[in-house]
Amino acid sequence: MTEEKSLNFIEEIIEEDLKNGKYTSILTRFPPEPNGYLHIGHAKSICLNFGLGLKYGGKTNLRFDDTNPTKEETEYVDSIKEDVQWLGFNWAHELYASDYFDQLYNYAVTLIKKELAYIDDSTAEEIATMKGSPTQPGIASPYRSRSVEENLRLFAEMKDGKYRDGEKVLRAKVDMAAPNMHMRDPIIYRIKHAHHHRTGDAWCIYPMYDFAHGQSDSIEKITHSICTLEFIPHRELYDWLIEKLEIFPSKQYEFARLNMNYTVMSKRKLLQLVEEKHVSSWDDPRMPTISGMRRRGYTAESIRNFCDRIGVAKRENLIDLGLLEFCVREDLNKKAMRVMAVLDPVKLVITNFPDNESEQLTVENGPDESMGSRTVPLSKEVWIEREDFMEVPAKKYFRLYPGNMVRLKSAYIVQCTGCTKDAEGNITEIQCTYIPESRSSSDTSNINVKATIHWVSAAHAANAEIRLYDRLFKVENPADEDGDFKDYINEDSLQTIPAYVEPSLKNAAVGANYQFLRKGYFCLDKDSTADRLIFNRTVTLKDAWAKEIKKG
Ligand code: ATP
Ligand code: MG
Repeated sequence: MTEEKSLNFIEEIIEEDLKNGKYTSILTRFPPEPNGYLHIGHAKSICLNFGLGLKYGGKTNLRFDDTNPTKEETEYVDSIKEDVQWLGFNWAHELYASDYFDQLYNYAVTLIKKELAYIDDSTAEEIATMKGSPTQPGIASPYRSRSVEENLRLFAEMKDGKYRDGEKVLRAKVDMAAPNMHMRDPIIYRIKHAHHHRTGDAWCIYPMYDFAHGQSDSIEKITHSICTLEFIPHRELYDWLIEKLEIFPSKQYEFARLNMNYTVMSKRKLLQLVEEKHVSSWDDPRMPTISGMRRRGYTAESIRNFCDRIGVAKRENLIDLGLLEFCVREDLNKKAMRVMAVLDPVKLVITNFPDNESEQLTVENGPDESMGSRTVPLSKEVWIEREDFMEVPAKKYFRLYPGNMVRLKSAYIVQCTGCTKDAEGNITEIQCTYIPESRSSSDTSNINVKATIHWVSAAHAANAEIRLYDRLFKVENPADEDGDFKDYINEDSLQTIPAYVEPSLKNAAVGANYQFLRKGYFCLDKDSTADRLIFNRTVTLKDAWAKEIKKG
């Protein structure tokens, strides 16, 4: 029996709307502003909007909210489309708020004709002062009583480029004493002589968010317009404008935005990290961007599972990065091919193995037989991890030490016979002998060993550069700390080390996920070239920080 998940509050609303016949099908939208790359918070919104469309047999539009010409770029549009598709969703229509500029202009004219909008010549400061405060009603602008004819003429002149930026604005005529400050004659159009990424120089007036978003929803006949909690105070205006314009009654619903610890989530802050070179790019694997996570090796499925697990809340909270990493491990544990790589190498010489010979061993690719197997070469000298040998073993240490036996993964049992040290006492080589009857696939040795260690044949190993990532910030909520959030950057968030990896990895594909046995999950970075393999550590096998916290 599958467990029925209880409905979230938006699903309850939708089911009610479908049951009572308000709608026969639903239409949602994901409305990014193309002024940066998408982050994990957007992934939450994408999964929610597209998820609802899929669940209720409806559709979801991808609408670029491109009403602010100076901050938007085509590069961002392309990255957003790539990220949504990578997450596994298909939009019904790719739309742009800028495609509605003519329509929005006409809506503004309609409001003017209804005496519900006027041109205000006041400065931004004057408008702000006249707005009053939450405890004090505002006062009417001296331009509030302009005639319809004058307003129409001035608005047309604004459009024709007769005025400079800021010289005039169009305001909705609502209520200067409204308890909701957003209702005190909000600005709905402003002058901005700027080049737009799609409309070029066709326009020098642009609609404000509140006069573009709801109207775009309505033009598309969006049934459920889902946004984050900070838009609650905008809802009254959203409804007012739709009512006065007598257009399709889209409805706005708000849920809590996703906040995650040890990172920042606003595009403006992420842009600063890129521009000031605290990270290499928007898709730096330390970034909370979807592209950064993809490059780091996170799977789309693990991000979708994460978004599903955190649910849809009505109150803000801070989600633990550990939960996302848990979801990534859970998925990679099922999917990632198991391979061998040695990150802190020391040489192990198998003294009774024939010189200049090698043997191909069959190694399973994963926990599931369907993943198949491959061959890995063994020769007289192999690299093993330095921590897998102790000259004088600690208590309960079961790995290599003089006299002890371990199994080389998928190969033979070896017995340590000694080690060689340099003048400073550093171990430079370890020696052992192997037991020929103990070959993994045909073991007749009857010897039980307590440890299995991974290895890479020295003669066949490929060199690789490994990039180990840690949290980007030292504190849980850098945006909430005193001073600049960048003061809390973790300077040690990237560590680069050389390593030896098994030769099969020379054929690794960019982005393919691997478990380096006992070391964590890794994927080939796009910076790799034929003779320079670079692997990103996606996530460790276990949570290193949980251990730190327990230790205190
Ligand atoms: P940012 O503050 O990061 O710039 P934004 O809200 O300005 O984000 P938009 O491009 O306007 O970014 O957002 C597109 C959609 O994604 C909106 O519906 C927005 O509410 C939603 N969204 C943005 N950030 C989050 C978040 N952290 N959690 C959930 N949804 C989010
Ligand atoms: Mg926004």
